Amino acid sequence: MEKTKNRGFLESKATFESLRPCFLVMSKLQIKTYPDNVLRKKADEVDGVEEVEDLIKEMKETLREVEGVGLAAPQVGVSKQVFVVKDGHDYFAFMNPEIVERGEETITTKEGCLSFPDFWTDVERSKRVKIEALTENGERMLLEAEGIGAVVFQHEIDHLFGKLFIDELGFLKRAKMKLSLLLK
Ligand SMILES: [Zn+2]
Repeated sequence: MEKTKNRGFLESKATFESLRPCFLVMSKLQIKTYPDNVLRKKADEVDGVEEVEDLIKEMKETLREVEGVGLAAPQVGVSKQVFVVKDGHDYFAFMNPEIVERGEETITTKEGCLSFPDFWTDVERSKRVKIEALTENGERMLLEAEGIGAVVFQHEIDHLFGKLFIDELGFLKRAKMKLSLLLK
């Protein structure tokens, strides 16, 4: 009985076509790629978590699907000060962040960005930062990050101010970046 029902489902073209809209609704947020204007705009502060609750949920889902470590709202076309990061298996969202302290030591790592598919380059940043931000629980919190964590936070916070990881690159590396995007 069960078997007959399954075969009927698979063989029916009409059933598949009627399912298609569901797949579209479930698809992840579209990631804006360079040189989309939204990536250069300073994002607006959010008034509270409620305002961006759905956005946070969708951004976390998107980050999980693309297997990234960080995603800022402007990258999905929303000019608001929200970003999500992956830590281990968990995803966290922060809003209205401010870097309140930077250590003197720097760290250089190879960075990539979801808005620059297939382009990686060395970027030098502060090795340790203290950040004040609004958490998903609606609390203003002070966080300290070091190493890769500090790099990810600085990269994502830059996005909220229209700054991109290619901004400090010299002419040749920038040309290489443009070429790699053209070949994409
Ligand atoms: Zn990025």
